[in-house]
Amino acid sequence: MENISGKTYSLYGGRNRTDLYYSKIRELTDLLLMMSPDRHQLLTQIQKAGDKSFLKRAFDKDMDTQLILFIRKVLKDSLSVYTTGVKKHLKSVPLSQKFDPVINTEEEQYHLYMIEIELINRIFKEPFKKSGYKFALIAHCLKDFRHGCKSVPGDIESACKSCTKECLINLGGNLLKKYEIHPFISVTMKLKPLLRKIKSKHESVGALGIACLPELVQGMRQCIKAGIPPIGIPIDANRCARWMEKAHETSFSLKELENLIK
Ligand code: SF4
Repeated sequence: MENISGKTYSLYGGRNRTDLYYSKIRELTDLLLMMSPDRHQLLTQIQKAGDKSFLKRAFDKDMDTQLILFIRKVLKDSLSVYTTGVKKHLKSVPLSQKFDPVINTEEEQYHLYMIEIELINRIFKEPFKKSGYKFALIAHCLKDFRHGCKSVPGDIESACKSCTKECLINLGGNLLKKYEIHPFISVTMKLKPLLRKIKSKHESVGALGIACLPELVQGMRQCIKAGIPPIGIPIDANRCARWMEKAHETSFSLKELENLIK
């Protein structure tokens, strides 16, 4: 798939490839780590910077205001090309969705999420690999839209039946299996009880997510809270029925997925 645009973001950034996005994110994360070398501390500051509560921000004594101002400026200058649809989208959100945090994600938050995902991947890549049971949740919007999906209920979530060779869920699932990661198609939105269930069955668990930027970050944060090391890859553009009137095909980088799990 080439240069697809999403409702709010696209990792293509108007070009015909996404590897420029990934190299920019790595470069920016390296730069921020030069300013704040402790990965965990930088992650905390990135999360604080994205907190929408004005009161929390105003009274938080642990906030490094200078660093956060710098982060906001640098990210805005470098990453706005990937989030050109946000402002228009936010103006059109209907009243019924005004309290949905994912749908109402602001442009600055998208930029912070991009760095947050990279930082979490760097922090948790090794703990994930060492986990006894590794599973992946792949967004259902990545399925092949040309045919009726033949997936069936699986142990955790839906399981792909490999009905078409070209389907990205099938291709991603085969790659994941090569690295002993159990792939599932994410259908339900209730991650908390799902994580509890998996943890009760396995001594050590690692989670991998493939989802749109805001949902991936929310999922990774929930995994960290549950004591599960997460890693993840954002889908290239948000185009499912939750964002658009009708679901459109989307994609993710198989190359980046393999780089992350090998
Ligand atoms: S290959 Fe798997 S995910 Fe893709 S359409 Fe077929 S059953 Fe569904």
